[in-house]
Amino acid sequence: MKKLIIIKYGELTTKKDNIKFFIKTLKKNIESSLKGIDYNIEYDSGRMFIFSEKLEDIREKLENIFGIHEIVIGYEYDSIDIEDLKKNLENLLEDKTIDTFKVRTKRSYKDYPLTSMDISRILGGVVLKKVPGSTVDVHNPNTMIDVEIRFDKSYIYFEGYRGLHGYPLGVQGKGLLMLSGGIDSPVAGYLAMKRGVRIECLYFESPPHTSEAAKNKVETLTRILSKYSNYIKLHVVNFTEIQETIYKNIPHEYLITIMRRMMYRISEKIARRVNAKIIINGESIGQVASQTLTSMSVINEVVDMPVIRPVACLDKLEIIDLAKKIDTYETSILPYEDCCTIFVPDHPVINPELKKCLEYEKEIEYEDLINRAISEHVVYTVTPEDKKFDDIL
Ligand code: ATP
Ligand code: MG
Repeated sequence: MKKLIIIKYGELTTKKDNIKFFIKTLKKNIESSLKGIDYNIEYDSGRMFIFSEKLEDIREKLENIFGIHEIVIGYEYDSIDIEDLKKNLENLLEDKTIDTFKVRTKRSYKDYPLTSMDISRILGGVVLKKVPGSTVDVHNPNTMIDVEIRFDKSYIYFEGYRGLHGYPLGVQGKGLLMLSGGIDSPVAGYLAMKRGVRIECLYFESPPHTSEAAKNKVETLTRILSKYSNYIKLHVVNFTEIQETIYKNIPHEYLITIMRRMMYRISEKIARRVNAKIIINGESIGQVASQTLTSMSVINEVVDMPVIRPVACLDKLEIIDLAKKIDTYETSILPYEDCCTIFVPDHPVINPELKKCLEYEKEIEYEDLINRAISEHVVYTVTPEDKKFDDIL
């Protein structure tokens, strides 16, 4: 008998055309996340099997990989004989408490002398006899007992751990996440990653109006997100000069609108440089003045690239729930200033006019400012353990 991990990838199997590419990407992601651990992996249609002395460590890593439906710790046996199956199951039931259960059998070896139903029935009998008080419930069992027969090997396992679901990271190419220190944007990044989008992050800082602590907070959020992808690149753009120029030259009710148009312009340029196909951000319809539909469309007007807003239609409470689930909430609520909040006017315009934006923007040489900010921006590679200064683009 060998103890092993069985990986199931449910949702993938529904995407017929892409399945090969999806599985290849998943394998690659699994292999890079398990670097440094001794293990053997075998592949089969619809399953992966991992053998190792370190199954618990491996399980923890697998729980952070998108595209995995379920992670099961089970047992592999060299015999498929029904008498051996009965004995093996009986041994596993030692000390187990079970109330309602169902045995579910799968055979990829179709010439087996018994049908799947027969096997389930016979093994169900073993449970009833071995575990006092157990009863069969085929509709809503508390314990599912799975048996699989694959060529000359059989597998027995009980319910496993829920995987992250979604698509393997990278199958959808790359997106650039506008990451502030708030609650919404890390959640937006997580949700995009869950759809298979690899992300790089972009943070606008405004020293001395924003502190080093605010930047560290964004770095910590990037680190938390990096556990789903081994590493994430964090781009930090100095936004001070642009922001101060806007502050001095633009009517204050339009400060935020113009500031966000500048952020979008920079985001698009950096996105194109790093080969990202979309911009991702944490805007949510109606949450603040700059997130009314009119504001969004006037701001969106400056870019030629899809802007995906994964939390656009979620309530704040729903976003907070997700932030707690992915462990970003406690960091996000740390009270450091954001570059937007410092320059917030008393009465930001709720329905900005594009004509006015264009008129006001003529007052500033923003192309030069933007190009300078981009040429001086700094990139870090952030991993779950560490940060490394990368380069200046
Ligand atoms: P969050 O909770 O994510 O900060 P928010 O509700 O505070 O969002 P805004 O400050 O209006 O909303 O920002 C909307 C979105 O714009 C953010 O979710 C983020 O994607 C992006 N953004 C805002 N400020 C910055 C910044 N300093 N650097 C990078 N992106 C930013
Ligand atoms: Mg914010």
